[in-house]
Parts: sequence; structure tokens; C-alpha cells
Amino acid sequence: MSFMGYADHGPHVAQALATREEIKWHKEAAPGPRCRALRWTCRCRAPRYFLFTGGGRLFIGRQDARGWFETTRLPHQQAEELWMRLLTGEAR
Ligand SMILES: [Zn+2]
Repeated sequence: MSFMGYADHGPHVAQALATREEIKWHKEAAPGPRCRALRWTCRCRAPRYFLFTGGGRLFIGRQDARGWFETTRLPHQQAEELWMRLLTGEAR
């Protein structure tokens, strides 16, 4: 996939809290051609998560052995907040 191959290491996600918000993930073939990764978690852990931009909105992508999954498109602030909750274990 085109978003693979970044040299930078991203952060690791924290262990999910028991009280975590359940993110609704939708299976997709791959990120759309006009989508671009803004942030990503470290490649040494699976699943790996990405904050993507596409079509003026943001979404979070998840890549694991089962493939590629995405959240719905969200307004920027909402997506940034969800990304932070994902990293801290408050959403997963
Ligand atoms: Zn790592």
C-alpha cells in the first residue's frame, strides 16, 4: 500500500482501558488514492494505526493481519480527539 515505507517511528498505543470507547471499524480494500497519512503509530506493533486525510475530512485507519479498516470520515477536531483517545487507550 502507498502509505507504507515511512522512515519515522510513530508512537506506540497504550493498552486499551476497560472503559474504552469502541471505535466502529469498516473493512476497506485500501486507503483511497487521494488519501494521505498525517500520523501513524510505530510499525513494530500490530495493529498499526494511521490518521488519514481525504476529501477534506479525516479518518483513522487500522492495519492488521485481517487487512485494512477505517473509521467514518470525521471533522478535523473530532478526528484529532479520537486519535488522541486511541493513543491513550481511551478508544480502540
Ligand atoms: Zn515500536
